[in-house]
Amino acid sequence: MNKRRRPDLDTMYTINEDGSRNFLHPADVHGRWQVRKNLVWLTLLVVYLGLPFVRIGGYPAVHFNIGGRSAHLFGATFTNQDFHLFFFLLLGFGLTLFVVTSLWGRVWCGFACPQTVFMEGVFRRIERWIEGERVTRIRRNLGPMTGDKLGRKILKHGVFLGLAWLFAHVFIAYFMPMESLLDAVRRPPSEHMAAFVWGIAWTVVLYFDYAWFREQTCTIICPYGRLQSTLVDPDTVNIGYDEERGEPRGALNKTEGHCIDCLRCVQVCPTGIDIRNGLQMECIGCANCIDACDEIMDKVDQPRGLIRYDSEKGFAGGKRHLLRGRLIIYLAAFALGTAFFAWRASERTFFQVTSLRSQGLPFTFDAGGIRNLYTLHVQNKGDEVRTFLVAPGADAAVLGDDVEFIIPQGRIRLEGLSDARVPLFATMPREAYTAPVEFHITVTDSATGTVQRVQVRFRGP
Ligand code: SF4
Ligand code: SF4
Repeated sequence: MNKRRRPDLDTMYTINEDGSRNFLHPADVHGRWQVRKNLVWLTLLVVYLGLPFVRIGGYPAVHFNIGGRSAHLFGATFTNQDFHLFFFLLLGFGLTLFVVTSLWGRVWCGFACPQTVFMEGVFRRIERWIEGERVTRIRRNLGPMTGDKLGRKILKHGVFLGLAWLFAHVFIAYFMPMESLLDAVRRPPSEHMAAFVWGIAWTVVLYFDYAWFREQTCTIICPYGRLQSTLVDPDTVNIGYDEERGEPRGALNKTEGHCIDCLRCVQVCPTGIDIRNGLQMECIGCANCIDACDEIMDKVDQPRGLIRYDSEKGFAGGKRHLLRGRLIIYLAAFALGTAFFAWRASERTFFQVTSLRSQGLPFTFDAGGIRNLYTLHVQNKGDEVRTFLVAPGADAAVLGDDVEFIIPQGRIRLEGLSDARVPLFATMPREAYTAPVEFHITVTDSATGTVQRVQVRFRGP
């Protein structure tokens, strides 16, 4: 960290005046929030890395099959026909984030976001093990290249690359069946070029991110931080500095303020900001500064909490309200979305039938009769093999007794997550036709008896 320069509100501390990177070396910190965070991170690491290996109902717990246009989520199978449900799932995730941000600021960023969990919980930790704590790292980096320094750098980047490769393949396993992925990894790249290229591309991206780009992902690329100011209000609990108590800051016993201006809160900050400047877009809510300042307060025999979780109203000595307008709106939108999702999900069937437009004329003449061709698209949205029965609906009687139906595949067997096009011909004597008539074709799931009806129209000259 540049000693002559202090973080301010006008510049990004991680970028020098000449545009070069001011690479941060956050100091180690201990305290109650670190203990809680480590527990959450450990749990999430198991979840993020373990989900592709967990199987529910014979399928991975979370799996997106882009090519097959389907997804498995905790035992439920979704196909492209259920895309609108995915929209509501994403909306639900977004609204949950809104509610959480409105209540507790950027707790997601500091405690649960994969960028933070892997950066702070894995890569930064390894860096400290190999290159030492902050002061040692800075001293080593400024010093001349020695055998020891070179060895540590090679070891660190070797481990980083290995982990980036491993995590990249776990990430790909969310989109590619684990068996195929393991098989691809074992065989030469030329036999599975697409998977190989994806694997290398994600390894490079992750290595670049965790070895070098780091907090820049949060402060420059991620849009969530920029949304923060629109999602919080004076009742939101955020990490902040108690200015009333801390100012005027100064050396110990030389000022009435409790802040001794030791800069410890700045040294532990992974984004290099000074929380004493107020709520900032770069703050990822990691709570490092709380633990760091509590440590100092303990040493100078002052009460903890100069930096703490509190609302703007709380810092001003007022009372905080839990329920307020914006939260009620977010919760109402969330409830509406959830209700709609639950309703649509409950209406969901395990097969889908649609009528496809036939090419050419809507009818042809055949041995004195008028012939219509209908093509049905039958999609088995479930995981199991199903047999479907295709037949004209009861209302097809309106076409008259002389109509002849020909269904080349009246009984079709479909593998799980597969589909088929089924033709159906209807022929009516020419003299019987007077006007277009609408009727239904039914498709019945033979196992459950569930019927889907598709409306079609018999047309003539
Ligand atoms: S750690 Fe606490 S005392 Fe030290 S500079 Fe930060 S706010 Fe002031
Ligand atoms: S200001 Fe505090 S909470 Fe925010 S990122 Fe820095 S250390 Fe974490």
